[in-house]
Amino acid sequence: MSNDIDRTIERMVIFREEGIENCPRCGQRLVQDMGPYQIATFDGQRPADEFAMNGDFGYLCGGCETAVIDLSGLAEMLSAAYQKPGWDVGQGCAVIGLLNMDAIPPDQKDRPLEDMDPYPLVRFYADSTETKKLTRKSKPRKRRPRKPKRRR
Ligand SMILES: [Zn+2]
Repeated sequence: MSNDIDRTIERMVIFREEGIENCPRCGQRLVQDMGPYQIATFDGQRPADEFAMNGDFGYLCGGCETAVIDLSGLAEMLSAAYQKPGWDVGQGCAVIGLLNMDAIPPDQKDRPLEDMDPYPLVRFYADSTETKKLTRKSKPRKRRPRKPKRRR
């Protein structure tokens, strides 16, 4: 299903809380990708923890270099993970990238992820904000009146 999705390119990561269907940049239909994703958490500006996680919160675009993260889905998964002992709880998070499992040499397939060398991370870059607050709900945004399209 996701065969036409290139998991080896660096993507711009965009956070969304709802309405994830089409790519915000090119409009193509997004394809859900279970990852694993490399996640970092932050306590204020302080990096708290970094780990790889599978989940249904990520979507990739086949038409351009975009990844869309369902922020509420990710927050839900993280808060569930934080119940476990030994996790450093942060209040913010960043999705650093996608792990390209296809890039792992066959002789390393059985190794734990953190022992992989080279680590199969395909980085994401953020458009503006790198970390997102998980605890605070974002304020409802005021709608800007739409500018009339300029005719050529
Ligand atoms: Zn796109």
